[in-house]
This record gives sequence, structure tokens and C-alpha cells, in this order.
Amino acid sequence: GVLVIAVVTGGSRGIGAAIVRRLAGDGFDVALVYRSGEKEAAVLAEECSGDAVRVVPFQANLGNREEAAGVAARIREEMGPVSVLVNNAGITRDGLAVRMGDGQFTDVLGTNLTSAFVLCRAFLPDMMKARWGRIVNMSSINGIYGSAGQVNYAASKAGLIGLTRSLAKEVGSRGITVNAIAPGYIDTEMTRAMPEVARTAALERIPMRRPGRPDEVAALVGFLAGPDATYITAQVIEVAGGLIP
Ligand code: NAP
Repeated sequence: GVLVIAVVTGGSRGIGAAIVRRLAGDGFDVALVYRSGEKEAAVLAEECSGDAVRVVPFQANLGNREEAAGVAARIREEMGPVSVLVNNAGITRDGLAVRMGDGQFTDVLGTNLTSAFVLCRAFLPDMMKARWGRIVNMSSINGIYGSAGQVNYAASKAGLIGLTRSLAKEVGSRGITVNAIAPGYIDTEMTRAMPEVARTAALERIPMRRPGRPDEVAALVGFLAGPDATYITAQVIEVAGGLIP
């Protein structure tokens, strides 16, 4: 039968927490990976665990390749073979390119992009054996259209699109789908940290005239991970209220 263990990175808050709620509600056992939000992760795991599903928090700094590989091994050991991987953890470290430090660039690439590759590589063998798997990578509208002050972030998010489309070609014949979601402006701590003027400017370019909610992104993850999304792969799907770049 189909395996039902999902991994959600950056699952302690924001979009990731909504994805954890959604997948647990849909009946998946969920391993959520967080970096610093131990309390939030524990509360969420407790809230979502029930008779039918187990939600377990795992701590790791995914910006470190060894820690990323290590947490994948711990999840495999404690939960079993994973069939759904949601690479959602992400950071911003904005600044203009001319003033951007090497570390500022590579840290964002490491956390947002390299970690996704490391986790895909770690969990794919079980999915290939099962001939069933779903990978969802959290890209961004800024990875498609670019964004001043975010060459690091946009490069990482564009990189996730290249990873998504290439991996989809490698594993499609094994019954594994790989898709990316490109959220627009979603109301989370990440966007609450934006200056007021930037938020107002963003809203003016959104036909729906409001920020999106984390659960509106999680709904698409639920669909892509669920039983009806059997023939959708290598896609980048915007959840952005029609945002015009
Ligand atoms: P958020 O509220 O800032 O949450 C980020 C999550 O990622 C937290 O759970 C955080 O864990 C985790 N994380 C960050 N660095 C990590 C690391 N090194 N190792 C492990 N976990 C790490 O972000 P969000 O707004 O929900 O965004 C989620 C994803 O959607 C990101 O990839 C983001 O780029 C993307 N996105 C967001 C928007 C938006 O408008 N919000 C738009 C487009 C794309 P701790 O808190 O435990 O440290």
C-alpha cells in the first residue's frame, strides 16, 4: 500500500506550520523540521497528533549540509520510509548586490536550496522503492520574476525551480511527482518584517488586494500530496492572488 509519512521543513511557524496542520488533517504522519522554534514545534506537534496521526518535531539547522543529512537519517529511523517531502524552510537576508557579503549570499543558498537537494537525495531511494512519492519545493514569485535587494533569495528560489523540473524528469517513471509552489505575498513573520512601504506597494500589484494566508498555500500542498494529483509534475504553481510582477 501507499506510505503515509510526510516531512515538512520549516514546520514550526508560518506557511510550514499550516502545511503540517493540513497534512496531519489529511491523515499523514508528519515529521516537522525546525531550527530554533522548539516551543512552537512542540505545541504544534501536540495539537496535531491524535489517535490516527503522529506529528513529531525534529531539530536541525538545514543551512548545514551534515545536519540536513543527519536529520533525514533520524527521521527515517524514528518514523519509517518517507513518501512526501515538503522543502519549505527558507530565510531572507536582503541587501543590494553591490554591498552583499559572500556569506550573506551563500547562507541563503545553503538554507533555501542546498538543503532541499540534500533532503531529496536522502528520501528518494525509499520513494523509488515504493514507486510512489511526492516532493513539493517552496519557491517564490521572486524566484520567477526577480526582486531588487534579493539576488541571494531569488537565486535560491529560481534554483529550486531548476531542481524541481530536472528531478521531475529523473523520477517521473518511478511514480514520483516533483512540483514547486511560488507564493506571492503571504501574511507570516517573514513578510511582517518588511517595511510598511514595501507591503503597501506589494498590495497594489495584487488583484485580490490582500495578502494570502498560510492555509491558502497549504491547501495546494495538500492537493499535490493527495490522491488526486497523480499526473501533475514538473510544475511551478503560483499562489499569489494574481500578483502582477
Ligand atoms: P517564516 O515565517 O520565516 O518561517 C520560516 C520557517 O523556516 C521556520 O519554521 C524556521 O524555523 C524555518 N527555518 C529557517 N531557517 C532554517 C534552518 N536553517 N534550518 C531549519 N529550519 C529553518 O517563513 P514563511 O513566510 O512561513 O515562509 C516559508 C517558505 O515560503 C520559505 O521558504 C519562504 O521563502 C517561502 N515564501 C514565503 C512567502 C511569504 O510571503 N511569506 C512568499 C514566497 C515564498 P525556526 O523558526 O524554528 O527557526
